[in-house]
Amino acid sequence: MKKHNFYAGPSILPQFTIDETIKAIQDFAGTGLSIMEISHRSKPFVAVMDEAQAMFKELLNIPEGYSVIFVGGGASTQFAMVPYNLMKTKAAYLNTGAWASKALKEAKLFGEVVEVASSKDKTFNFIPKGYVIPEDADYFHITTNNTIYGTEIHEDYDIDIPLVADMSSDIFSRPVDVSKYAIIYGGAQKNLAPSGVTFVIIRNDILGKVERQIPTMLNYQTHIDKESMFNTPPVVPVFAAVQTLKWLKGKGGVAEMYKINKHKAGLLYDEIDRNPMFKGTVPDKEDRSLMNICFVMNDGFEDKEKDFMEFATSKGMVGIKGHRSVGGFRASTYNALPVESVQALVDAMQEFENMNA
Ligand SMILES: *Cc1c(COP(=O)(O)O)cnc(C)c1O
Repeated sequence: MKKHNFYAGPSILPQFTIDETIKAIQDFAGTGLSIMEISHRSKPFVAVMDEAQAMFKELLNIPEGYSVIFVGGGASTQFAMVPYNLMKTKAAYLNTGAWASKALKEAKLFGEVVEVASSKDKTFNFIPKGYVIPEDADYFHITTNNTIYGTEIHEDYDIDIPLVADMSSDIFSRPVDVSKYAIIYGGAQKNLAPSGVTFVIIRNDILGKVERQIPTMLNYQTHIDKESMFNTPPVVPVFAAVQTLKWLKGKGGVAEMYKINKHKAGLLYDEIDRNPMFKGTVPDKEDRSLMNICFVMNDGFEDKEKDFMEFATSKGMVGIKGHRSVGGFRASTYNALPVESVQALVDAMQEFENMNA
């Protein structure tokens, strides 16, 4: 039976990415060697790293004056690297979920942290608005898509201090005005590649302003200067990321992907709102994520949760169990998820409704 892969991460990748990566694992660029057993300083791999940077710049329309680096450690290491490299005395954080909270916690190791607003008292089911950002903060940190709770910031904030964004789970899902950000970072395993590589887009003039000593590997400048080749980069994930970006470009780029993502999310949210057996966990439509769609059994149908999970599983749905802190269901609808899979889930919800009518 065909599987519909709704995992939140690692998550579905384009078949093209998987096929091309298999080929490179067997015979990389006609070298007769696997990409796993060839120097990262060999010509064909240096070309892959160059292409990764170039495709990021092209597809996200990254302006002059920015660098793109690829490092290990996951987005979680960025929670520390950001304050290490940017915080002089004070930073501001918007607390929209578990990942945002973790970023905030790390920042406290480096100076004063102002939590400008939090949605914690409502299980992070909305994006706070109308808060004040201290003017003397060195930067303001946001998490654009809250993978666990299904909320998303859909606009590029226009603020007067450097804006830093964790875009782990919505990078390349919509056009982004990179010029509004000082740093954008994310782990690759949601929308881009297998886990192991983290991308960081950095406005060069933001660096070099802190007094503290920064360990070499945690210093952004190291990786900018050496074009992500200071140490051995995660070669296979970087190669896979390039394949995903080629696939994305072939689909018409980020603007086209955004249209498709809105269509896919719309199909599922419409069904959640229509079907009396289910309800969405994010009440305000403008805060709803296009990438992670969370829903629970509606009032009066709570005891049907296990039945629906079994029914959906029997129809090929995989990875729709909600995060333990929210419960219910979460369907992750990343770029590579075909609209057919969303439709299959919608059909299953309708069938389940009819069975229980
Ligand atoms: C998954 C995720 C992370 C954690 O990424 P790692 O690469 O596992 O460290 C951080 N932020 C967001 C928004 C995520 O979705």
